[in-house]
Amino acid sequence: MRIDPKRSRLKMVEEQIAARGVSDQTVLDAMRKVPRHLFVQDALASRAYSDSALPIGEGQTISQPFIVAFMSELLQIKPGHKVLEIGTGSGYQASVLAEMGADVFSVERIRKLFIAARKLLFDMRYFNIQLKLDDGTMGWPDHAPYDRIIVTAGGPEIPQYLVEQLADSGRLVIPVGGKKRAQRLMLVTKNDGKVETTDMGGCAFVDLVGKQGW
Ligand code: SAH
Repeated sequence: MRIDPKRSRLKMVEEQIAARGVSDQTVLDAMRKVPRHLFVQDALASRAYSDSALPIGEGQTISQPFIVAFMSELLQIKPGHKVLEIGTGSGYQASVLAEMGADVFSVERIRKLFIAARKLLFDMRYFNIQLKLDDGTMGWPDHAPYDRIIVTAGGPEIPQYLVEQLADSGRLVIPVGGKKRAQRLMLVTKNDGKVETTDMGGCAFVDLVGKQGW
């Protein structure tokens, strides 16, 4: 079945994202713009705009459109913000953040996914996204501090390195849970050095694997 990507995106934003309460126009605009079907394998392109996560190889997934939008809204991105993402995966979430005007630094631990994302994002001319192959639970100290940090895999705790690399007035979102593939989405804020965490609800992410992960 052939899809009309532009129409599918408008429908996705209306039915899956705006209808469920995401109202930040910069998020909705970015989700209308980024061609999600290019971030999944060809065989899955017709399902790219469906209401679910999809496999991207190596046992990993591209997140459900709603969760990408929800996390992006929680971050309250302003143009020029320096944003660290842990878990590049397909590069889709990074592209949405870049479309919102962020300078994105994204870390992926699986070489094959890192190489595929690097090629795709270069071909798509997302020059405001820098990628690194590494264990992202250690952050990316070279460019710290970050205005915003987003972790798109779930671990047992909030990595201390990431909290340390968060700027003052910063926001961090991360799925955290004692069980695999069942977490709580935590929002961490830092104001005048005071760190607070808020539970934003249940979610299901692939494992955050690393020194401060599983
Ligand atoms: N944001 C991605 C979602 C990818 S799924 C997208 O838009 O497609 C989560 C990704 O986190 C997987 O690719 C997984 O390999 C990666 N990951 C898991 N643990 C990691 C770690 N410690 N450092 C960096 N990446 C990690």
